[in-house]
Amino acid sequence: MARIIIDKDLCTGCGSCISACLYDALELNDDGVAVVDADKCNICRACVSECPFEAISVEGAQNIKDDKDDYHGIWVYAEQWDGKLHDVAFELLTEARQLSADLGEDLSAVLIGHNVKSDAAELNKFGANNIYLFDDSTLAIPNEETYAYLMADLITKYKPAVVLYGATAFGRSLAPRIAAKLNTGLTADCTFLSIDKERKLLQQTRPAFGGNVMATILCPEHRPQMATVRPKVFKKEALSSPEKCNVIIETVNLNDFEPKSHIIEVVGFQNKELRVEDAEIVVAGGAGFACQEDFALTKELADLLGGCVGASRAAVDAGYASHPNQVGQTGKVIAPKIYIACGIAGAIQHLVGMENSDFIIAINNDPDASIFQIADIGIVGDVKVVLPKLIEKIKSHKAKQLAV
Ligand SMILES: Cc1cc2nc3c(=O)[nH]c(=O)nc-3n(C[C@H](O)[C@H](O)[C@H](O)COP(=O)(O)OP(=O)(O)OC[C@H]3O[C@@H](n4cnc5c(N)ncnc54)[C@H](O)[C@@H]3O)c2cc1C
Repeated sequence: MARIIIDKDLCTGCGSCISACLYDALELNDDGVAVVDADKCNICRACVSECPFEAISVEGAQNIKDDKDDYHGIWVYAEQWDGKLHDVAFELLTEARQLSADLGEDLSAVLIGHNVKSDAAELNKFGANNIYLFDDSTLAIPNEETYAYLMADLITKYKPAVVLYGATAFGRSLAPRIAAKLNTGLTADCTFLSIDKERKLLQQTRPAFGGNVMATILCPEHRPQMATVRPKVFKKEALSSPEKCNVIIETVNLNDFEPKSHIIEVVGFQNKELRVEDAEIVVAGGAGFACQEDFALTKELADLLGGCVGASRAAVDAGYASHPNQVGQTGKVIAPKIYIACGIAGAIQHLVGMENSDFIIAINNDPDASIFQIADIGIVGDVKVVLPKLIEKIKSHKAKQLAV
């Protein structure tokens, strides 16, 4: 169990730690030396970095401070299923190109699976200088436990400064296991990443306190610095002329590893319907609809446009749409070509899910609704009036086209 230790000889009683502590866990004792209340302390380490006299340390936690300068480069875990790379791997590599340039260090990808060698060329197109490859029949079905074991070993061997993962169902299960094995930090669901060039630290920004503030999180004492990012937060962009990359083939040695779970069978996703995260056009509805029957207008318009229905959380809570269609902080992050927001106010928790859309059309009866601030076209009006008109117009336009 970790605890904060204050060196009485080094502490000058300056009080910096007291003002840095968010939990009121520190005070000066009668001798003018800082003391910590263990019941209140969350071991957040704010006092450790704030103390100008290096009088505060954490006992009981592995501290790799001594060798952190040995960690270099940025890695992206390239998730694949059945040999098909997940788009989030390309999105992360695209974003990490700038991070590695700012850090002045290599960008690498890690690929684990069976018969995945051909995927290495794809990763190279997105800027990976090195690709670490585990290719073995025992890895055909991705198992977080086995993959975490291999990743932790690989990280210990090559010491990357930063490792990024997609916040997919698999990535969300994999990354914390690796963080726990390596006793390092992990920032989940980042929406922005950058490099503090002076301190060579990854700045990991994500919504906090219900999305009301954006928190930038650092991992200054442990390595590697690790973050997950949800699909579609970053755009993917291949390089026109990528440099040649090194493919480093790693031996899969699982002799000393006994996983607690064995996957017997993987059942494919049966629903063949277009998913909101894959749709190029999304017609999303919010609490501006008075009932389910009215909300059905979004489906009618989406079907006409070959798109998919999205929803705000208020619409999901009202039972108008199901959770897989929810867009936002606790729903999907999407980046369609066209996003039509109908009766949606534009709360920050909704915007983080759709603000990367190429073109945003908003329909709202309140001219001051926040959604208009990010809309390319804003229509002030009642959804029950505007949507039927829009649907009629599109229908008659399609009929005319068919007649020609
Ligand atoms: C931790 C946390 C996570 C969250 N995650 C999400 C998330 O993932 N996704 C999400 O969407 N929200 C999320 N929320 C909720 C979010 O804060 C908002 O409450 C929600 O987005 C509001 O949905 P809404 O805009 O549909 O409803 P409202 O805020 O009720 O807005 C309805 C809008 O419709 C307009 N309107 C009303 N009648 C009409 C009409 N007849 N015609 C046209 N316009 C009309 C109103 O002017 C208003 O702007 C989260 C909140 C928290 C705290």
